[in-house]
Amino acid sequence: MRVVTVIGNRPQFVKAAAVSPLLRASHEEIMVHTGQHHDDELSQVFVDQLGAPQPEHQLHIHGGSNTDQSALMLGALGPLLDELDPDAVLVYGDTNSTLAGGIAAAQKRIPLVHVEAGLRSFDRAMPEELNRVLIDHAADLLLPPTEASADQLRKESVAGAIEVVGDVMIDVAHRTRPAAEQAGEALLAELTLARGEFAVSTLHRAGNVDTKAQLSAALDVLASIGLPVVLPLHPRTAARLEQFDLRARAEEELILLRPLGYLEFSGLIINSAAVLTDSGGVQKEAYVAGVRCITLRDTTEWTETVDVGWNTLVALDATAAQAAMAADLPAARPELYGDGHAAERVVSAVERLVGG
Ligand code: UDP
Repeated sequence: MRVVTVIGNRPQFVKAAAVSPLLRASHEEIMVHTGQHHDDELSQVFVDQLGAPQPEHQLHIHGGSNTDQSALMLGALGPLLDELDPDAVLVYGDTNSTLAGGIAAAQKRIPLVHVEAGLRSFDRAMPEELNRVLIDHAADLLLPPTEASADQLRKESVAGAIEVVGDVMIDVAHRTRPAAEQAGEALLAELTLARGEFAVSTLHRAGNVDTKAQLSAALDVLASIGLPVVLPLHPRTAARLEQFDLRARAEEELILLRPLGYLEFSGLIINSAAVLTDSGGVQKEAYVAGVRCITLRDTTEWTETVDVGWNTLVALDATAAQAAMAADLPAARPELYGDGHAAERVVSAVERLVGG
């Protein structure tokens, strides 16, 4: 069978690193990179470190509004899918690349597979939420990571088949743990930080960084927790710090780095006392590493991490963040995101869908 996978941003390279090698072991996969994240630090590094395949096609589409970006992607994907004539199109998660890949496939009646289906923050102000809902209703095969996300899909009466596979990002976290530990030790030495005596942060959601007031409030939270905070800067956040004249303040209060490779970043998480993030994937990665997570949003699609007591939603409230830092961690940490073999289930489900 021939599968076209459409990816475009950082976490999708991580997810592809779990699925693509397995898919390519017995089938043909053609990877299309829309260009949504075009910096090497947000894309090529995952090819080099994690064995995500080098995309066969690059569309070089980035910037602009969500509408413009999605429209350009759709326009480019239409003829490309005609040319490639795949048996299925596979998309991950909730980005503009997911939306464009999914809609282009659905309009051509090419079977569409959505990995990481059924996640909801129930916050339609997030562009990602709209993408999730639309793609879940366009997909022929929905592969949610958890029973709760599968239940959500059933509640919404999606048309496609549903199969819980576990979380492909967590496959990568399991597989790379020893290498991440090594990378983490080296980075800690370089930064002269001691294990358990610092926090790690990621910050890039539009709602947190696109106005000066929000970005200042986010910096207030990070500066208030009583530990050094390492913040590898997403390019969007780096640009906003400059634009709002907040870079000098951030440099004074935080340890600012460039975006890190996956192994270095995971190595930091493993060794940290806490993770403060507005990222989706990082909430799960903190959980799997057994590290307290404080989420700088008022909703999350990864609700089970909150339910079991390892993740606290504080939005941009410094007092709430301090309280979360001081709270006891639960004794138990149940396996929420599968056994590290989600990618194998993805490949067999796609084989069953297209009959080969
Ligand atoms: N990540 C990374 N380097 C960094 C920050 C994050 O490799 O400096 C990884 C992280 O481990 C996770 C993914 O990037 O696997 C999350 O991406 P991001 O936060 O951009 O996306 P989201 O999950 O919010 O959609």
